[in-house]
Amino acid sequence: MSAAPATSPSRSRDGTAASLLNDEERTRIRAKSAQFAPPPAALPDGRRDLVGLSREELTDILVEIGEKPFRTKQLWHWIYHQGATDFSRMSSIARPLQEKLAERFVIGRPGVVTEQTSQDSTRKFLFRFRDGQEAETVYIPDRQEDRGAVCISSQVGCTLSCTFCHTGTQALVRNLGAAEIVGQFMAARDSYGEWPSPKGETPRLLSTIVLMGMGEPLYNYDNVAKAMRIIMDGEGIGLSRRRITLSTSGVVPMMDQCGAELGINLAVSLHAVRDDLRDEIVPLNRKYPIREVIAACRRYPAASNARRITFEYIMLRGINDSEADARELVRLISGIPAKVNLIPFNPWPGSSYRPSTREQLDRFAKIVMDAGFASPIRMPRGRDILAACGQLRTESQRLRRAAGQPDAAPGPQDAGS
Ligand code: SAH
Ligand code: SF4
Repeated sequence: MSAAPATSPSRSRDGTAASLLNDEERTRIRAKSAQFAPPPAALPDGRRDLVGLSREELTDILVEIGEKPFRTKQLWHWIYHQGATDFSRMSSIARPLQEKLAERFVIGRPGVVTEQTSQDSTRKFLFRFRDGQEAETVYIPDRQEDRGAVCISSQVGCTLSCTFCHTGTQALVRNLGAAEIVGQFMAARDSYGEWPSPKGETPRLLSTIVLMGMGEPLYNYDNVAKAMRIIMDGEGIGLSRRRITLSTSGVVPMMDQCGAELGINLAVSLHAVRDDLRDEIVPLNRKYPIREVIAACRRYPAASNARRITFEYIMLRGINDSEADARELVRLISGIPAKVNLIPFNPWPGSSYRPSTREQLDRFAKIVMDAGFASPIRMPRGRDILAACGQLRTESQRLRRAAGQPDAAPGPQDAGS
C-alpha cells in the first residue's frame, strides 16, 4: 500500500472553511479528470456523433449547418424516444435534410464485442468504443417482474484500488464520454428491443440505472452528469432521477455537487466502520475518512424517507463482518434515511478474500435490521459470466503516448486523483 496522503484539509475547520476547501477540491478533481478525457465523438471521416450532445450543443451544430433551432426537438425525439440510428427512418424530416444530416453526422452506438447471458438471465455486454477501448455493462432483470437494472460503467479501469475489486486491478485508462455512457444504455435497450422509450409510468424492462460498473463516477462527474441529464430528459428516454443511483467510494466534494445538481439516488460504498480498516480496503478513505463521508450523506439533498441513501457493505469473512462491526455501523448511520445493502464478496481470478458465511451474514443483517434499517443481502447475479459486482475488468490498457515515454497511467497509489 502507498503512503497515506496528508490528513484531509477539512477535518479541523469550521463549515465555511470546509466548503471553500471543497470548491478548491472540486476544481482539482475536475482538472485531474480532464487529463483522462475521452477522444472527440467523431468518426475518422469527420462525421460527428449526435449522441451525447446536450440540447444546446445539438441546436448549435444544427444552426451551424443552416438549420432552424426547432429541429433539435425533432431530432431529439428520433434519437432518444424512437431509438433511430438511421436518418432515413426519420419520417417527419424531408429527404434532402435527411441526406444532409447523414453526410455530416451519425447516431452512434458502442460496438458489441460480446454479449453473454448468464444462467440467471443476467446479460453482460462488452462494448468497444471508437478508439478501441472497452468497458462492460450488465443488465440484471428482476426475478419476479418484467423490469430490471442496467449497471453502467463510467470509466475504463479505475484510479482507486479497493483491494476486493477486480476493476481496481486495472489502472485507469480513461474516462468515458457522455456519448459512451448514454450509448451503453441505448445499446442495452437495442438488445432487448425496448424502443420507443416507454412514456410516464408505463412499465419498462430496463427500468433503472445503477452507476455501479467499472470506475468511480464522481471522478468523471462532468461526463456522467451530462449523460444522466440526457437520459432524464422527458422528451427522450425520460428515466426519472428516482430511478437512477450513483455509487461512489466516497468522493466527498463531488457528492455535494451531485446531490445539488442531479438529485439522483446515492449509494455509498462504505465497507468498513473503522478508518484503519477502511484506509486499507478502500484507499480513498485516507483522503476522505469515514466521518466526512457520513457527514456528506447527512447533507445529501435528495435523501428522504422515500429516497434513502444506500450504504453498500461488502461482507469479507473475518475482516469486516463481526457483530461489533454491525453495531458500529448502525451507530455511524443513525438518523440518516438509509438502507444497508450487504454484498457477499464475489471472487475473481487472483482475489484473496473469502465471502462471509451465511450465518455471519444473517447475524450481521439482523443487528442492522433491528436498528431500523432495511438490510437486504444482495444475492450475486451473473457470477458464472463474471458479471457480478466487482467482477468487471477489461483488457484495455492505456497506450503509451509516444515511443520511449513512460506509461501515463497512475499507479495504484494514486488514491487521491
Ligand atoms: N466505484 C464505485 C462504483 C463501482 S463499484 C464504487 O466503488 O462505489 C460498485 C460496487 O461493487 C461497490 O459497492 C463496490 O464496492 C462493489 N464491489 C467491488 N468489488 C466487489 C466484489 N468483488 N464483490 C462484491 N462487490 C464488490
Ligand atoms: Fe474503483 Fe469502485 Fe472498484 Fe473501488 S470498488 S476500485 S472505486 S470501481
